[in-house]
Amino acid sequence: MTARLIDGKAVAAALRAELAARVAALPYRPGLAVVLVGEDPASAVYVRNKDRAAAAAGFVAHTIRLPAATSEAALLAEIARLNADPQIDGILVQLPLPPQIAPAHVIAAIDPAKDVDGFHPLNVGALASGRPGLVPCTPLGVMRLLAAAGVAPRGARAVVLGRSAIVGRPMAALLLAADATVTVAHSRSRDLAGECRRAEILVAAVGRAGLVRGDWIAPGATVIDVGINRGADGRLAGDVAFAEAREVAGAITPVPGGVGPMTIACLLENTLTAAAGRRQAGR
Ligand code: NAP
Repeated sequence: MTARLIDGKAVAAALRAELAARVAALPYRPGLAVVLVGEDPASAVYVRNKDRAAAAAGFVAHTIRLPAATSEAALLAEIARLNADPQIDGILVQLPLPPQIAPAHVIAAIDPAKDVDGFHPLNVGALASGRPGLVPCTPLGVMRLLAAAGVAPRGARAVVLGRSAIVGRPMAALLLAADATVTVAHSRSRDLAGECRRAEILVAAVGRAGLVRGDWIAPGATVIDVGINRGADGRLAGDVAFAEAREVAGAITPVPGGVGPMTIACLLENTLTAAAGRRQAGR
């Protein structure tokens, strides 16, 4: 059996087009502020891509570039300004930050109603307790991919590999909210392969190229590979040994072209959600 490919590029393009149509029908244009501190080249590329995607979908993208030597106090002052700016619906501070700035202080300073990364403790708590809030973009993208592939989490055994605050934990919470039976495995799990074999939906978010082998996958399972690992040859690989896995799985995402493109599309979705939510709340 050769697995069906879940085409993240196509699903992300369709989502961006749907968002663009919704934005075009609004009497205002949602504003997204992306703050980049320093010169990290990978971050600069991400920020440029976010800018382009936002503008193409009719959002107003504001990129705030600050020098690497920016103090924490100066960054917090910039966030206070963006919190107070009525033109700004979403605020994203690109991570990683330079060492003199504590990411937790910065995330906590963002207005939770504008926290389009979903990292603010109030939004984290809302997700953990099953209440509405803004949720992290990459796991939201995985939920959108599952829906587009016609894979229903309700009642399914789902295994999430990885328990980071950015991907694994919110992923598990979203699957649970969608009525899956969720197991979270990590570097201290005793029998990783055995846990994975029980999964009808397997989400790998570990950051180890090819960790998940073909014989870790139940026949017909849906495999979502969040991992992005750059090999010595410069090529990108996921956390799943793709050639092996695709012979066993029912459906699988490639890397690149799977989860990756969904993250920016979901950032725009969150910005639109934040814009609508703030106006509903009269803010
Ligand atoms: P992270 O913060 O490094 O977390 C990795 C998680 O994997 C941790 O929970 C860790 O367990 C677990 N782990 C590490 N080695 C393991 C092993 N050998 N066996 C089992 N579990 C292991 O990484 P992250 O930020 O979640 O990102 C994970 C991957 O997703 C990375 O490749 C990253 O580049 C990618 N990513 C992609 C996107 C996208 O847009 N597609 C977005 C974000 C991240 P412990 O908790 O026990 O240490």
